[in-house]
Amino acid sequence: MNSKSMTSTLIACIAVCLVAIIAMTVVLINGMNKNDTSSVDSSGTSTIDTADTSSQNSTSSQDSSSLISSSDIETSSNVSSKESSSSVTSSKNTSSITSSFTASPGVGSAYYPPNDGDKVAYLTFDDGPSTKVTTKVLETLEKYNVKATFFVVGTSNMNMLDEIYNAGHAIGLHSNTHEWNIYESTDNYFADLNALSDKVYEKVGVRSQIIRFPGGSSNTVSRKRCEGIMTKLVQMVEDEGYAYFDWNVDSNDANTSYMEKVDGKYLPVPKSTIVKSILNNAQGKDKICVLMHDIGAKTTTAEALPEVIEGLRNMGYRFEVLTKDSPVFHQKVQN
Ligand SMILES: [Zn+2]
Repeated sequence: MNSKSMTSTLIACIAVCLVAIIAMTVVLINGMNKNDTSSVDSSGTSTIDTADTSSQNSTSSQDSSSLISSSDIETSSNVSSKESSSSVTSSKNTSSITSSFTASPGVGSAYYPPNDGDKVAYLTFDDGPSTKVTTKVLETLEKYNVKATFFVVGTSNMNMLDEIYNAGHAIGLHSNTHEWNIYESTDNYFADLNALSDKVYEKVGVRSQIIRFPGGSSNTVSRKRCEGIMTKLVQMVEDEGYAYFDWNVDSNDANTSYMEKVDGKYLPVPKSTIVKSILNNAQGKDKICVLMHDIGAKTTTAEALPEVIEGLRNMGYRFEVLTKDSPVFHQKVQN
């Protein structure tokens, strides 16, 4: 063997060794990824570790429990900032979120009942009771023998709760004050919820177990008050034994883009728009949870109700009230 061929053999040997070392390093890194932050105690691999978890380390310098919670929040804000882009839900961070959501399907993410051929409509009225509109709504519901669900507000006309409840409708908890400061902290939220629960209990003698978050679970108005609070609340209310309900059919009765503005004031959404919105949005869905409002200004909602009920009946729906065990209607949490 001459010196030239010896040199090339040596180079080949070194190359093979290098490839082997690189391969082992890759295997090591993969193993580290699986263990995630738990491998910080291994001094020999600290360079790999910091590179891998630098984003998490930069968001948290405290103990491991705060590291987990703050990274969860950060992930949710990442997701929300990219809105509905599904590609951001593939990282290991989101798996830690979903794994903690076990109480019901789709807590924190969009989930609606799959079609099964059985058509059920859940009519829901938020923000009431209000003397005039609620009275009209109750009359129509009685006339058509339809039961609905009222997500009530503590500052409204609570004296009507008896009448609603005794007519066989369900009472759900919306908010005691309906002020956005309920989203400043989880303590604030539950103080408001519990105050409303007490009021409902005083009036009708039952503890309501169903909730509708002001703005829905997908609201982004809470982000200004407390980053990540909805991600926490959707889980916490379920842990407390509540079921929360969003909607998959919007009547658009509170949608200002459908309102005419006269002298700086919005007029109610036209009755025909409400009927059309509901019947069109129901297409293709066997289970519908319909969002409507029964505050004093929503006169056209009450006026639209007969056509809504007739239209949905013609489409094959029957009507039920929401209970804790009703199908899940969850929008995607965005804060
Ligand atoms: Zn509301």
